[in-house]
Amino acid sequence: MSKPPIIQKQTSSGGVIYRETETGAIEVALVSVRGGKAWCLPKGMVDRKEEPPATALREVREETGLHGKIIDRIGQISYWYFLKGGQIKVYKTVHFFLLKYIEGNTGDHDHEVDEARWFPIDEALKTMSYKSERQIMQKAKDMIAAS
Ligand code: ATP
Repeated sequence: MSKPPIIQKQTSSGGVIYRETETGAIEVALVSVRGGKAWCLPKGMVDRKEEPPATALREVREETGLHGKIIDRIGQISYWYFLKGGQIKVYKTVHFFLLKYIEGNTGDHDHEVDEARWFPIDEALKTMSYKSERQIMQKAKDMIAAS
């Protein structure tokens, strides 16, 4: 019989960074990962002694090249995945924050992602790879509309 997997917990944090165009349309930034196979929200591991909002600002800046300010908390998602050929089962929680764009260029994304790109928010909703992240984006859209 094979050994049962070791369970590990991980916490990440990320954000929906948005801007309003001259015509009043809302655009958000997504990152492409895994060789362009997935379009996702920018996020990353919460470092020791770091709080999730600070991680969100840092990860959005690193992965998209964009600097923003935190407007509010959007919510959190959780999912399971396997590491090391199934020997480790990870339970991951990701916190998400709404960020308003201040400055920066998507061309300045780091090597952790294949590309960073602005999308009109409805196009982002159609492009995103994971249902739970789409639900976060929908909530962000409602929050922006209500602000
Ligand atoms: P981080 O960006 O937090 O450092 P990572 O790039 O190391 O994380 P994840 O993006 O969490 O890792 O991906 C690990 C696994 O989980 C991959 O197999 C990925 O396809 C899957 N995954 C990522 N996001 C989701 C999600 N929202 N729902 C379900 N599975 C997901």
